[in-house]
Amino acid sequence: MLNIVLFGPPGAGKGTQSTNLIEKYQLVHLSTGDILRSEVTNKTTLGLEAKKLMDQGLLVPDDVVIRMIEARVDANRNAKGFIFDGFPRTTNQAEALDELLKRKHTSITMMIALEVEDEELIKRLLNRGKDSGRPDDQNREVISKRIVEYNSKTAPLKNYYADQGKFHGVKGVGNIEEIFDRLTSVIEKY
Ligand code: AMP
Repeated sequence: MLNIVLFGPPGAGKGTQSTNLIEKYQLVHLSTGDILRSEVTNKTTLGLEAKKLMDQGLLVPDDVVIRMIEARVDANRNAKGFIFDGFPRTTNQAEALDELLKRKHTSITMMIALEVEDEELIKRLLNRGKDSGRPDDQNREVISKRIVEYNSKTAPLKNYYADQGKFHGVKGVGNIEEIFDRLTSVIEKY
């Protein structure tokens, strides 16, 4: 299986590049942000609880997202592999993911981080907020909070994967095709 953690701060381009990668490599895309937003749209109990945190730019609890991922990995037993987008975001989540994949006799192949400067991220997110309708993309304070959450809780995961020899950094600036080429050249070295 080819199991990729596509990593990077909010606005780095993970969603866009995931769409291209799943097509090329026939992988299943698991985005915890997308799953949570669909819970919010459907006004489920989980969605209503999660929305309060998402609207403030805060992470939702680990056990909630871990359960969501577990259910979807289980539901895709015959997948050639997965792209994990926006997950894991904490060390707890990364450990839970390793254990979950181990139970399925597989593991994370690599983590690829899209690297983009904070100023560019803020510009991209405010732009995306104009069409996406995402409330968390429309407010500078919420965007800053998401970047702070990323730097304090998520960025340390680089070391988690680097210690396993699985970390790859890719420049996330340029046009979509250029960035996609950088990603595929990392993947194809495996
Ligand atoms: P994203 O679409 O990945 O930017 O996620 C949007 C929001 O959903 C985040 O700001 C968090 O509130 C929540 N979220 C998404 N993925 C996770 C995760 N793995 N752990 C905790 N919260 C998450």
